[in-house]
Amino acid sequence: MPHHPPSSMWLRAQALATLALLVLALPAHAQANDSTVSATVSNVHYDVRADRASLAMRRLHVTTTFDVADGAPVVLSLPAWTPGAYEISNFARWVSAFAASQDGAALRWDKLDYDTWRVRPTSAGRVTVQFDYEADSLDNAMSWTKPDFALFNGTNLFLYPEGRSLDFPATMSVTTEPSFRIATSMSAAGEPRHFRAATYHELVDMPVVLGTFDLDSTTISGRTVRLATYPAGSVSGERRATVWQQLQRVIPAEVLVFGEAPWDSYTLIQIADSTYPGASGLEHAASHVDVVSPVAIGSDFQPSLYAHEIFHAWNVKRLRPAEMVPYRYDRPQPTPWLWVSEGVTDYYADLAEVRGGLVEAAGFYALTSGKIAEIENTVPFALEDASLNTWIHPRDGTEYSYYPKGSLAGLLLDITIRDASDNRNSLDTVLRELYQSTYKQGRGFTSADFWGAVSRAANGRSFDDFQRRYVDGREPYPWTDALRTIGLRIQRDSTPRIGVSTAPDANGAIRVMELSPESAAAKAGVRVGDVMLRVGDVQVADPDFGAKFRLQYAGRPAGSTLPLTVKRGTETLTLRSALTYGPTAPTIVEDRAATPRAVRLRNGILRGTTGG
Ligand SMILES: [Zn+2]
Repeated sequence: MPHHPPSSMWLRAQALATLALLVLALPAHAQANDSTVSATVSNVHYDVRADRASLAMRRLHVTTTFDVADGAPVVLSLPAWTPGAYEISNFARWVSAFAASQDGAALRWDKLDYDTWRVRPTSAGRVTVQFDYEADSLDNAMSWTKPDFALFNGTNLFLYPEGRSLDFPATMSVTTEPSFRIATSMSAAGEPRHFRAATYHELVDMPVVLGTFDLDSTTISGRTVRLATYPAGSVSGERRATVWQQLQRVIPAEVLVFGEAPWDSYTLIQIADSTYPGASGLEHAASHVDVVSPVAIGSDFQPSLYAHEIFHAWNVKRLRPAEMVPYRYDRPQPTPWLWVSEGVTDYYADLAEVRGGLVEAAGFYALTSGKIAEIENTVPFALEDASLNTWIHPRDGTEYSYYPKGSLAGLLLDITIRDASDNRNSLDTVLRELYQSTYKQGRGFTSADFWGAVSRAANGRSFDDFQRRYVDGREPYPWTDALRTIGLRIQRDSTPRIGVSTAPDANGAIRVMELSPESAAAKAGVRVGDVMLRVGDVQVADPDFGAKFRLQYAGRPAGSTLPLTVKRGTETLTLRSALTYGPTAPTIVEDRAATPRAVRLRNGILRGTTGG
């Protein structure tokens, strides 16, 4: 579903951790982690071997080496999840052939829980721990190999000492074929194919790809941006030029919101594979990884995906809810704020497209209309609840709905702030203030931080009621008033609906392929397989059927008699149906009667400006 951002972001090809597993896992896990502290380790180095032989077996060989001060037990764990992909995966399940040694002699080891190993050094000195990792998961939070390629995430491979600070520096090397390329945003360390990270958090936030792929770079907003695409040739020629043009437009528009490009360099990694349904991105502080179906390349969704994932470099990787600061890798970190981290990010992806000139205003309205339609077709839910629920992949129809609804909440906040401040401030003001006052101070944002910044931007207005109704509550959003404030309105398509989809058969007969439940046709008794002959007096086979039907019936009251004539087998039947309107999709259009002030606020949103 490449044109369906909310759910496509996290489409998963493989089975996911179940709720039962999560609930059962927590107590035992918490116990091991809370009661266990590893001996101190230092000079930590990780090596990932991915040569043709290991890739042929879809394996990465991971070697961790570190110094210990004595023979005290070292307790090492692998993460259970990758930040950004809010689900428990337990990467330890892909580990095999675990071994530990010191000075060439094997060390005793055992497991303390399913992702924690206890290694017993014999004395002070350097310890080596090794394992194989089965890298066969095509998922941007995981690790995947082909004979000429590998993607790995540090969360999958890199052990950390239990109960110790994760702010330890580490080095990492990749051992692979001389002809293979490597792309990552990790800082290079002295030797070729060696990298360094200031902390474990930084280390596991820098995915790596190696192998044969296309790689080039350019400068955008004063910093290097790299584009790594696999397989080689999947994004070439005109398509590659289009990607670069899209990045040249969305990145500066996003930089303007926060006033700085926060990375030294940025790496966009994209993997296309025909086994992958849809398109999905996973954000990092200085990179992101997209896994896409080849059909998503060059689609309208492509710039939207890039703009979304890149905006995350500020919103969630840096400006982050306090519940997720610092990340902890051994258990879920639920937060009621994913509607800001994901939904507001999605709002800014749309804004980056229109502000960067990739779409016209009408394109922005269409993206917004689509989100309104999506929420109209979802059961009422609260943004905070949907944010918290994501960890259990709820089956109530609201999974990932905090993307479109959070995006709409962003628009509603932006309108309200611009209205209350007479366009002196905007949602941009709020994000910029929070970025400075929380991220730059080394902390996450709280409810008081967020609503305080919103209120200050909106001339001191209280948002208690807004929060209660539209964020913690399930009330529909007041689009009529809100859109009027910025000179827009919702137009509803008033074409009568019959409720069938048809296709011509081999003889050219218009045959019913699908019936919408509760539609006029379904209620009249039309069946899949019937040949549609006439709707009222209008011949269905007429090339101008649509226009003639609308001319005759649009505007008649709902419930008016509408005979449907079908051929079923050899019989011709005339079924009585009632004229039915809807469901009607909302379309946002500019209001011709908009005041100059409304137009000024609207242009502020579309252009990223405030004031006059
Ligand atoms: Zn996202």
